[in-house]
Amino acid sequence: MDISHIEHIGIAVRKLEEAIPYYEKVLGLKCYSVEEVADQKVKTAFFKVGQTKIELLESTDAEGPIGKFLEKKGEGVHHIAFAVKGIEGAITEMESQGVQMIDKAPRKGAEGLHIAFLHPKSTGGVLTEICEDKNK
Ligand code: ZN
Repeated sequence: MDISHIEHIGIAVRKLEEAIPYYEKVLGLKCYSVEEVADQKVKTAFFKVGQTKIELLESTDAEGPIGKFLEKKGEGVHHIAFAVKGIEGAITEMESQGVQMIDKAPRKGAEGLHIAFLHPKSTGGVLTEICEDKNK
């Protein structure tokens, strides 16, 4: 699999408006985008840190993946996302290496990325996303 960099780190928060001031006022980062991803039942806020982004995730549905995560574990790091070239091939390669994929085909994520999640059972407990920006 051809990983170029860490595309983003996903962090689960209860309320974006309560979390954003820490990133902006304390860390001095700038929130450049807030976007709802209906498919994943989340509202996201993005910050750039060099080539990598911080993606804050607020749940829009208690039964969605972030809603359940918050219920179980509370706020904190939710997933790490690697930028890859050729996401379809990367999924096939991961499966051939015995990695359990949550997504067997890419789907649309925030910012128009094509994304797929690896199951934390196969990744040492780290929910891992691979993503590709096909517009680049
Ligand atoms: Zn993500």
